[in-house]
Amino acid sequence: MKYCSTRGGMNPLPFSDILLEGLAPDGGLALPETLPQVSAEQLEAWRKLDYASLATEVLGLFIDDIPREDLNRLTQAAYAPGVFDSPDVVPLKPLYGKTSLLGLSQGPTLAFKDMAMQFLGQVFEYVLTKRGTTLNIVGATSGDTGSAAEYALRGKKGVAVFMLSPHGRMSDFQRAQMYSLQDPNIHNLALKGVFDECQDIVKALAGDLEFKSAYRLGAVNSINWARIAAQIVYYFWGWLRATSGPGQKVSFAVPTGNFGNILSGHLAREMGLPVAKLVLATNENNVLEEFFRTGVYRPRSAAQTHATSSPSMDISRASNFERFVFDLVGRDAGKVAQLWKQLEQQGEFDLSELKPQLESRYGFIAGVSTHQDRLKTIRSVYDETGVLIDPHTADAVKVAAEHADADIPMLVLETALPVKFAETIREATGQIAPVPAHLQDLPSLPQRVQVMACDASLVKDYIRQHAEI
Ligand SMILES: *Cc1c(COP(=O)(O)O)cnc(C)c1O
Repeated sequence: MKYCSTRGGMNPLPFSDILLEGLAPDGGLALPETLPQVSAEQLEAWRKLDYASLATEVLGLFIDDIPREDLNRLTQAAYAPGVFDSPDVVPLKPLYGKTSLLGLSQGPTLAFKDMAMQFLGQVFEYVLTKRGTTLNIVGATSGDTGSAAEYALRGKKGVAVFMLSPHGRMSDFQRAQMYSLQDPNIHNLALKGVFDECQDIVKALAGDLEFKSAYRLGAVNSINWARIAAQIVYYFWGWLRATSGPGQKVSFAVPTGNFGNILSGHLAREMGLPVAKLVLATNENNVLEEFFRTGVYRPRSAAQTHATSSPSMDISRASNFERFVFDLVGRDAGKVAQLWKQLEQQGEFDLSELKPQLESRYGFIAGVSTHQDRLKTIRSVYDETGVLIDPHTADAVKVAAEHADADIPMLVLETALPVKFAETIREATGQIAPVPAHLQDLPSLPQRVQVMACDASLVKDYIRQHAEI
């Protein structure tokens, strides 16, 4: 299996080579040259597997340059009992009617990013050791990616992590989780800007090829292909848990920011998983909802991006969206390159001629959830079921209800536990979200963070001084 770029300007490369890269040299994103297909018989044969073994099967379809027994060792370590706070790793939690939560937040940072990142930590260490080299991870986070990356890579040999976060825009819990890590290979940089500006600096550094190769920069942000691949696993897992036989359909509802999570759902569907709908929920930052409603993609500026109570979705330019557009335009890399050039020059592009396909061919349907919707949903789910859900999950529960079919299971991806966003939970319900026992001390731990202006040259200076050589 080889990987190409969405913009066509990269020689095909094996998995281990794209693993350590961010953007492709032409500015595009890596994708498999052809998508593996999974038959109904194959799916049935996977029913009895535990999560780690299913991960070996699914990831093995995308990774053919790591021996199967090694890959299995990596998935068993990533999804070991003890790493995830559930014997199933990903529990299915019935909510009401045919609607259930797919529990993706049982990992060390209580959010779904752990699902992919724990595997990434294992596979990075494996490939770096094999190659006898080091890597400096530079990433941007609006909260959950950063902590998941840091928890997956803390103390790992040959890797340093430089994580850019928007100063003052994360919850107290998120800050405490990231900044309390004292491992010398973990560096938190809080920049005085919004997430997209942090992301732009990461892109600028990755685009500075001299700096990038001198300091062996790598990425773990949501464009990393291994993360997308690892996320495909839980769509298969969710389907297997919610069905009893071949061909039965399941819908998924996904709280969406960078389009990483739902892209994995799209790929699972393209691989042959019987998915009815992919329900895309945004918060007030509804660029993607607008696209799926109109066919026009019009990202907004950082200044036009609202700070909301589902902050991990406060994104105006969804970095993974290009991978979906590649499929939408018939895997025509020239067309993608042209669209992104137009985006740069005119700030938008119009694919409204393909709009009818978005639902009929690809199963996508989108909706918006606002702060008031979030509060109302958290409150009503709590009143009806006694279950507390986090604000991101609430956005998806709200939009899922608008598109649920009576006879098709609807799995809402639970992307964080409520304790991460305790203020909103209290506002909605008056309840204090329960803190898992092992995190009781978190708020009082000392924090380690560098606050700096939103300036790529300052970030570079810091990396020069602290990189793994
Ligand atoms: C990252 C994140 C999202 C958005 O996921 P994308 O892959 O960026 O679309 C939603 N909810 C939570 C809690 C997150 O951490």
